[in-house]
Amino acid sequence: MNSHPYGPVAPTAAALAALHPLPLTAVRLRSAGLLGSWQDRNATTTLPHCIDKLDDRGNFANLRRVTGEFHGEFAGFWFADTDIYKTLEAAAWEIGRTGGSSDFLAETVDLLEKAQDPDGYLDSYYQVDHREKQWAELHFSHEMYCAGHLIQAAVAAARAATSDAAAQQILSVARRFADLLVRRYGPGGEDAVCGHPEVETALVELYRLTGHRPYLETAKRFVDLRGHGLLTSDRFGPGYHQDHQPVRTADEVTGHVVRQLYLLAGAVDVAVETGDTELLQATERLWDSALDTKTYLTGGQGSRHRDEAFGDPYELPPDRAYAETCAAIGSFQWAWRLLLATGNARYADEMERLLYNGIAGSTALDGTAFFYSNPLQLRTGHDGSEETASSQRLSWYACACCPPNLARLMASLHTYLATGDDEGLQVHLYAAGTYTAGGHTLEVETRYPWDEQITLTITEATPGPWTLALRIPTWCSSAQLSVNGEPVATHAGYVRLTRDWQAGDRVELTLAMPPRLVGAHPRVDAVRGTAALARGPLVYCLEHADLPTSGPLANVVFEDLELDTARPVGVQHDPDGIAPVTLQAPLRARPGETSSLYRPLAGTGTVAAIPYFLWANRAAGPMRVWIPVAPREA
Ligand SMILES: [Zn+2]
Repeated sequence: MNSHPYGPVAPTAAALAALHPLPLTAVRLRSAGLLGSWQDRNATTTLPHCIDKLDDRGNFANLRRVTGEFHGEFAGFWFADTDIYKTLEAAAWEIGRTGGSSDFLAETVDLLEKAQDPDGYLDSYYQVDHREKQWAELHFSHEMYCAGHLIQAAVAAARAATSDAAAQQILSVARRFADLLVRRYGPGGEDAVCGHPEVETALVELYRLTGHRPYLETAKRFVDLRGHGLLTSDRFGPGYHQDHQPVRTADEVTGHVVRQLYLLAGAVDVAVETGDTELLQATERLWDSALDTKTYLTGGQGSRHRDEAFGDPYELPPDRAYAETCAAIGSFQWAWRLLLATGNARYADEMERLLYNGIAGSTALDGTAFFYSNPLQLRTGHDGSEETASSQRLSWYACACCPPNLARLMASLHTYLATGDDEGLQVHLYAAGTYTAGGHTLEVETRYPWDEQITLTITEATPGPWTLALRIPTWCSSAQLSVNGEPVATHAGYVRLTRDWQAGDRVELTLAMPPRLVGAHPRVDAVRGTAALARGPLVYCLEHADLPTSGPLANVVFEDLELDTARPVGVQHDPDGIAPVTLQAPLRARPGETSSLYRPLAGTGTVAAIPYFLWANRAAGPMRVWIPVAPREA
């Protein structure tokens, strides 16, 4: 029936791969869990919201201009087709996950097929008004970036919904475009790259799906041709377009963040499928540079609004953090590919941090509003009118790259939680649900990340030794593990439990989650003298809505709050609150605006800190992750 039952990334048997992704339906999340509820919310609200917005904003009309069914102006940015493709990808994963309606897929694919040129070209911006510029401004055009998202949508449809005629239809449309790319730019073709990487990962995945090697060879060319000055230089410069240095010799992530991350994800794909260890090592070296000096506590990346770029090492201002949602998703996708290639737990640690902080925070509780940038501080008096520095999530954006990117990630989230094969199962991210691999099925019960307890019960087993590997996160300094009540020693990384498992065997894992105070490297000048609160994988923040209305901390200016580290941070469980677990932050207020020569001692109190991902779901107001630490003598 379904001969390609995998998620977004499925290395071939010949690839350099330490771990193997599970089939598409091997992990089923339960709605009661946090990740399961996000996935359900994505299906019931975010995905329909994206489809409505694409209709409202003219994205479909852009394609109808090509078919002659609509005669108005082109709407939105010139790469607006990608928002359709990412939404299609999300819809395809949903069909695979829940068997949901495929009407949107079928109708949209019909439109795409009609709009496509006979030679395979498809780009609603260039097909009507700008024919003379087709393929002529690759630094700017996003033509291959758009093609990449079309290809990824087709791969999703082929893997998730192969019984559907529309899935074969979109795969044909995508292959016609991919074949055109191979003819123009593949081996023996013109030396060229796109100003916005993305097609590299897509072509490798299309190779993995079809076995057609020219797709892989063309992707390899696109990776290797970077850094040779092929793109027209404009005011943005070569770093913006990721043409500043060959990937293999680069030692620092730089330039436009999303472009850098998408390129590096594609470089890993090419490296593992071609056995290119030098290229794989280059991506790991660049990962070090990103994580050592250019990543926010939330996993977000990109500290410059100008050109949506990485800053210098340690340039990580919390209030001007750009930290685009798409960058967090790109980082997650890059980390997943490195995890599959190497089996190194550090990549799973980063995926967890991104998922619960940088990514989770970008969607509102109701699933229909989104942040584009994800700052770690919002000041009193912030002017939230700028789209990419808004103080509240917006229902859509002029450049709407982020919401459909979230939709496609969330619709495929269950494919990123574990890996495995006949030898065993490796659980990277814990969530309530059912996990199946190699003739074994586990029921995972947990309220993670709110609770420390994770119970894994074997419900089906086949005879013979089989290994269950459980990740102990680096944030956890005290983990307890037992199998049928017998304690097992733990260590950071993967603890491997090999035995002849029987149905009914029970594994109990406790990841202790005391509140933590986190400090930054002193060279991160912008947060020197501050601390952040964390518990488990969650970064916490103070938000104005939680300030008391009476007592010593009432009516203080938010920025005058300081953390009193002489007192302990409390933990409060409140099933009916905005967060099931808040941290009780011991604070003092030191008025910064007084002109008095003498003044009262600081007011002291305790304020609830909430998980960062939940901020801006109540009354608008200031927020901060990094809190100034009160001097002991004050
Ligand atoms: Zn975006």
